[in-house]
Amino acid sequence: MPRKKKRQVVINPNRPEREVRKLPPGYMKEYYEQYRLVTSSDECASFPSFWRVWLSEFPELQFRERSNHAQCMTCIRHRSMIKSLSSHMRARREQIRLFTEHLAAQYADRALYWQMRGLSRHKGAVVTLICDGMDQAKWEVPRSPILVGKDFGNMQKPRLHVSLCIAHGWFYLFLVSSPDIRKDGNASVELLACAFTILQKKGLNLAMTDVYLQHDNTCREFKNNNGLRFVCSQVSCKNIRSVTCSYLRTGHTHEDIDQTFGNLSRYLNRVRCLQTPDDAVQTIKAFCAKTKFPFESEQYVFAMEATRDWTLSF
Ligand SMILES: [Zn+2]
Repeated sequence: MPRKKKRQVVINPNRPEREVRKLPPGYMKEYYEQYRLVTSSDECASFPSFWRVWLSEFPELQFRERSNHAQCMTCIRHRSMIKSLSSHMRARREQIRLFTEHLAAQYADRALYWQMRGLSRHKGAVVTLICDGMDQAKWEVPRSPILVGKDFGNMQKPRLHVSLCIAHGWFYLFLVSSPDIRKDGNASVELLACAFTILQKKGLNLAMTDVYLQHDNTCREFKNNNGLRFVCSQVSCKNIRSVTCSYLRTGHTHEDIDQTFGNLSRYLNRVRCLQTPDDAVQTIKAFCAKTKFPFESEQYVFAMEATRDWTLSF
């Protein structure tokens, strides 16, 4: 019997205009399963009604395309178990419950970060900073129209390091360093120390400020000896009132900072000539001049030529 063609869904013309919101890569069916879990069986709508209402009333909720980023192992485990338990309804239901619990927990982590970001934008006694490094593969140098030739196909190209710190409500700070500078805890502390210096120069009294830090959940960057020693020393010397270190769970770290990296990467695709770290600095400055930052009016781009050994000073 031929399959019935799906009817086209008309978007409700009376609904208010909303900004597009990207959900993590996934399927509508997963959201339906979560909806079923929290709704009693006699009130629960069928899946066709569910997707029809979604598309007509909330078309701004879209799924992000799958990227090369490693995915959360817990999510993969739950998804594969739910799939394999299709003939065991009770076990499947329990798996869906555990999966929903995991998703709710990672959402709660994000909601905390969003709350602190909102507070920071009011420029009160809370400053929220998020720091991360950009994918190094995007910053291979030298870049030139000649190098697309086949003779250069096997050429090993060094990769520049680009890190970003967003002080919400204050500024964007980019640091560019050459490949021979190690991208370790010292480099992360350098970025943070530079951000604190700028905040102080802008007239913020750090001794009366609560700082909320958001980093990736990896020991290579800030979740290490250097990072914790640095923030502890700043608080014990009364330079900063308090510091909260926060790390989103692995596999669920995609945040606004990655969105900026995505935009920068798209801008970079149009750049044909890039030879030195200084060229990279100029490119990022040009990107900042063309991009709108609604909450952060200033952007700083510096080349980092060396890092200090921050463990020696404590
Ligand atoms: Zn997960």
